[in-house]
This record gives sequence, structure tokens and C-alpha cells, in this order.
Amino acid sequence: MVSLGTFDEMKLNDKILRGVYGMGLEKPSSIQQRAIPQLLTKRDLIAQSQSGTGKTATFSIGLLELLDMESNACQALVLEPTRELAIQTEKVIKELSKYIECKTHVCVGGNSVRNDIDIIKNGIHVVVGTPGRIFHMLRDRYLDITSLKLLILDEADQILDRGFKEQLYDIFRYIPQDAQIGLFSATMPQDALEITKKFMKDPEHLLVKTEELTLEGIKQYYIALEREEWKIDTLCDIYEAVCINQAIIFANTRKKVDWIADKLTSRDFTVSCIHGDLNQQERDSILDNFRSGNCRVLISTDILGRGIDIQTISLVINYDFPQNRENYIHRIGRSGRFGRKGVAINLILKHDVQYMRDIEAFY
Ligand code: ADP
Ligand code: MG
Repeated sequence: MVSLGTFDEMKLNDKILRGVYGMGLEKPSSIQQRAIPQLLTKRDLIAQSQSGTGKTATFSIGLLELLDMESNACQALVLEPTRELAIQTEKVIKELSKYIECKTHVCVGGNSVRNDIDIIKNGIHVVVGTPGRIFHMLRDRYLDITSLKLLILDEADQILDRGFKEQLYDIFRYIPQDAQIGLFSATMPQDALEITKKFMKDPEHLLVKTEELTLEGIKQYYIALEREEWKIDTLCDIYEAVCINQAIIFANTRKKVDWIADKLTSRDFTVSCIHGDLNQQERDSILDNFRSGNCRVLISTDILGRGIDIQTISLVINYDFPQNRENYIHRIGRSGRFGRKGVAINLILKHDVQYMRDIEAFY
């Protein structure tokens, strides 16, 4: 397999290369070195690499290179599991394609369908979206993907999981037979790989051994507690003791997220919280605020567990221990982006111990 050490050697379109350097990417990461040339061969691809190693730019550069700019047809479709991630990815594609006349759009629930329709009507090359809204656009014939060249499933194992499966099958009915398919994620459990056999044609696999999945740069700790009630005081102690740049605190339910936020606020800590019960405008503004650094501590459900890229997050706290081992890796991977250092602290109750040990052994 080809693996190229510089972006120059990849023989990218000049204007796309300008976009790459304009974004401050100087040297391709390992996954970029291997997967970009691979995507350009037009063969199906299953690509796994650790969190924060630049998978977004990998498939974004790949898809931009495949576009025929003479045409006004949608040629690349990227599916993301959350609206926030779709919005983030579309921004990356926009930035990389700054110097070509590429039309991109993000289609996610919570936004106006009318607006999606109007934009797509004027011609579109790349669409990024969540499965629900994308299916809606396809079914009602607002989005035509008969000229699609490349379908990307980001966070593919999650998109192939129960919650999205039905919608995904619905979407697949519209994907042309000869379209190339690329799957990306930090985690590729066996059952996800099994499902890929149903819809991929002899894909190239770039996989990571599970014991190599945790990043050296992220230090992981746990604090064992006897009672749930002690977690909130412990959290406050951590808050006061550690000097943090930005932190994200994960809990397992929306109610718990709200509850923690209330408790911390009543103790005069400044925090925000985010989960799926909020409307999209609220979600967008809370995340924008956090990205800009105006808010330093964000409490979240797993809605932000995957993919969200904020380089200044240096601490992840699992107030509740995650309920599956993939989510554990994704959550702690919100820190330590692209080789940076990070810390993860798990608050552990007695009944979490065995599960934590399992995860420890697994990775
Ligand atoms: P992943 O999807 O693999 O978790 P992302 O695509 O979100 O990771 O990228 C993580 C961060 O690394 C982003 O902030 C991105 O801008 C940065 N990045 C990606 N590729 C490079 C590169 N070649 N050089 C420097 N930074 C990069
Ligand atoms: Mg990603």
C-alpha cells in the first residue's frame, strides 16, 4: 500500500493543497498518509485510527479530490451521528475547499427544511448530515444523489449500531451501486465489521489493535467512591484543586446532566450543560460559547462523546462511568487532540469496578 510522507507527494489539486496548508496542516498524520491515497484509488475503505489523529481532514481531502467541479450534482455525502458533529465536519470541508468553487451544505434535524431545499436547489457538491434529515431529503426528492461518487460514514460503528440501522438501510436504497464507500472511526468492534460485509465491496482495511487505541498523551485516573452522593463534593474538590484549561464532564442521562449543572451553579461555579432535550439553537449557542472559551466547563451526555474537536479541552471527567467500552475511548478522546496532553478522571462506584477492570484489560 502507498503511504506518503508529505501532502505535496500526494499530488493533490493545487487549490486543495492551498486549503490544506491554509488550515495549518503541515505534515500528514499516519492515517492521512495511508488513507488519503487509498481513497483516491476509489476502492471501498474501512479506516480506523485513534481519536484526534485527523480523520476528518482525511476523508474531506479525499472527497474533495474526487469531485468533478464542472457538474452541479451532489457527489459526496457524509453521515454523522450528531448534529454538532455534522456542523463541525462541514466547516472543515468548507475550509479545505476555500480555493475551489465547491458548494457544501449541512442537513441536520432542528434546522429549517425549507432552507435546506432552497440551498440544494441551487446546486450542491457535498452534503454532510445526520441520517434522519438526510433520509427525509432523499425520500421527498429534494436531494438527488444519483451521481454520488463517495459515501462517508464517520463514527461508522455508531452509525451502524441499533439506533441508526433502520435509517441507514433506508438511505442505502438511494446510494448508486458504483459509489465508493468509506468508513471512519476510532473504534471498529467486530459486530460493526460484520455488518460492513453486507454493503461493502472488497474494502481495504486499515485497523488499529485495541491495545494501541489508548493515547499515550491522555493520563487516566479513577477515584473510587462508596456512595453516589459523594460524587458531587468530589467533583467540586477536583474543580478547585486542578488548574484546568477547559473541561467536559460526562453523565449518563439528561436529567443527571441538569442536576449536576444546578448543583454546581448553586455553589457558584460557572458551568454550562448540553443534551438532546434542548432545542438546536440552544445547543448551537452553548457549544459555540464553549468553543470560544467563554465557558470553561461543560456538562454533557454522550451527545458530545464522539468527534467533537476542541483543542483546549485538557480534562475529561466521567461523573458516570460510560455504558460501553467504545464510548469510554471516545469520551476521553475529547482531550489530547492531535498529540496534545490530556487527563481523564473516572468517578467509580462499587458496581463500576468490574466493568472498569474489563475496559482496562481490553485496551
Ligand atoms: P479524529 O476525527 O481523528 O478524532 P479530527 O479530524 O477531529 O480527529 O482532528 C483532530 C485535530 O487535529 C483537529 O483540530 C485538526 O485540525 C487537527 N489536525 C488534523 N490533521 C492535522 C495535521 N496533519 N497536522 C496538524 N493538525 C492536524
Ligand atoms: Mg472524528
